[in-house]
Amino acid sequence: MSKEYDVVVIGSGPAGYVAAIRCAQLGFSTACIEKWLNKDNKTVYGGTCLIVGCIPSKALLDTSHKYVEAQEHFAVHGIKVSKVGMDVPAMIERKDKVVTQLTQGVKGLFTANKVEGIAGTGKLISANKILVSGHDGKQEELAAKHVIIAAGSIPIDIPPTPVDQETIVDSTGALEFQEVPKRLGVIGAGVIGLELGSVWARLGSEVVVLEALDEFLPMVDRQVAKEAQKILTKQGLDIKMGARVTGSKLSKGAKKSVTVEYTDKDGEQKAQFDKLIVAVGRKPFTEDLIDPAVGIEFDERGFIKVDDQCATNIPGVYACGDVVRGPMLAHKGMEEGVMVAERIAEKKTQVNYDLVPSVIYTHPEIAWVGKNEEELKAAGVDYKVGVFPFAANGRALAANDADGLIKTIADAKTDRILGCHIIGPSAADLLQQMVIAMEFSASAEDIGLTMFSHPALSEGVHEAALAANGHAIHIGNRKRRK
Ligand code: FAD
Ligand code: AMP
Repeated sequence: MSKEYDVVVIGSGPAGYVAAIRCAQLGFSTACIEKWLNKDNKTVYGGTCLIVGCIPSKALLDTSHKYVEAQEHFAVHGIKVSKVGMDVPAMIERKDKVVTQLTQGVKGLFTANKVEGIAGTGKLISANKILVSGHDGKQEELAAKHVIIAAGSIPIDIPPTPVDQETIVDSTGALEFQEVPKRLGVIGAGVIGLELGSVWARLGSEVVVLEALDEFLPMVDRQVAKEAQKILTKQGLDIKMGARVTGSKLSKGAKKSVTVEYTDKDGEQKAQFDKLIVAVGRKPFTEDLIDPAVGIEFDERGFIKVDDQCATNIPGVYACGDVVRGPMLAHKGMEEGVMVAERIAEKKTQVNYDLVPSVIYTHPEIAWVGKNEEELKAAGVDYKVGVFPFAANGRALAANDADGLIKTIADAKTDRILGCHIIGPSAADLLQQMVIAMEFSASAEDIGLTMFSHPALSEGVHEAALAANGHAIHIGNRKRRK
């Protein structure tokens, strides 16, 4: 007899664990299957985000930022430090501790909410049956009225640079270096490539980023992308655009290095690195996840096909997070997890896919939501723009952290905010104020009429909104309309 549940979730990343907890809160008997084992062969819950993604990368970004502060910025404040050194293994150990604290936290949340965590690999074998293969080789069948697939994603490997997790690594390997590579290559100037490249550049690596596209951060507002390229280059990232990697050769001998072949506008090129990070994107992880007889449909890029509320074509089977269409972001998966649970409970929750915020955690951070100027121009929408530079923000200057700008875009006629684009200190948190405002269909005038604490970085949000209507106080107003 198979064990029966109202809901079985496959995968405990942000989409899966959130879905499982919300299902349990709504009164469903819920199990969540997870196959991830840590170095001690213990099951860990939390998925890519907590174990090898958002959290560990931010831990290393924070450590390396503090190192740069101590080395370069303390002196501006009059703080004298005699010798700043870097203990890389200690940095990695701290990162691991943060990961353990948070993954243990998910386990605790499962217990508190009565979600049953099940160790093993789940496979959907019919609309309401899941086969779990335990790490000890034992198999067990579970029955579920509803199934939520949240199996996540894995890094894309490209044939020219096969990952060995030693010299050629993916994002997971790049979180484990035990020393600072002298020369570091990064393939891909996307979010992950720029974040991980920044970590090691700050600690002293000579970093070369090879990007096949000619346009830097094509998904980002052009003004912000240009500013980002300028600042990151100044920080030491050698970003080579239009550079397509075509091959690689590992050196022989004890201390390995890799020679990367790439083509750019001048023809064939070569570069030698001590380590190479392959950060060319991620793909949905669906290998041996679903028996083809179940009839679940996939799209042409290998994602599980779902409707706006994450239902697959098979009644009772849902999928959410990185395994389905849309940006591969933890918060997008979490909101989908809640939506699926509430849909199972016959509530009418709907994720607002127009307002998914995006962040690149470089320093300064780059964050955006809604439409950018290029998209609005292409759609023929009449808009107005307000820009406020951090150089005019008292708090940013007081902190000696005044690179970047905030841009608010509003509809020319209705004044409704259509997008916000920030490069600057704490951009992620500043942006969130605009995400909330946009969720409530705020106008630029609404933000202008709101009182902001002084002195705060968020005053820049206020001023950028005022500037959209030519009413900024702390900068000159330039009329900028399409
Ligand atoms: P995952 O987190 O990938 O979790 C899926 C889980 O399912 C895994 O634990 C896996 O072991 C398990 N699983 C898969 N198949 C099975 C099976 N058959 N049986 C049992 N278990 C299974 N996003 C952000 O929003 N902000 C960031 O700052 C950010 N930084 C990132 C940095 C890096 C270096 C990386 C790699 C990613 C980053 N992301 C970030 C992306 C984010 O990690 C993902 O979008 C998010 O983890 C997706 O969540 P998920 O639940 O869909 O899948
Ligand atoms: P993202 O999908 O945001 O993680 O970004 C991955 C980046 O890697 C994209 O901008 C791709 O253009 C880039 N890329 C993919 N393949 C190659 C390659 N062979 N050489 C250089 N860049 C690549």
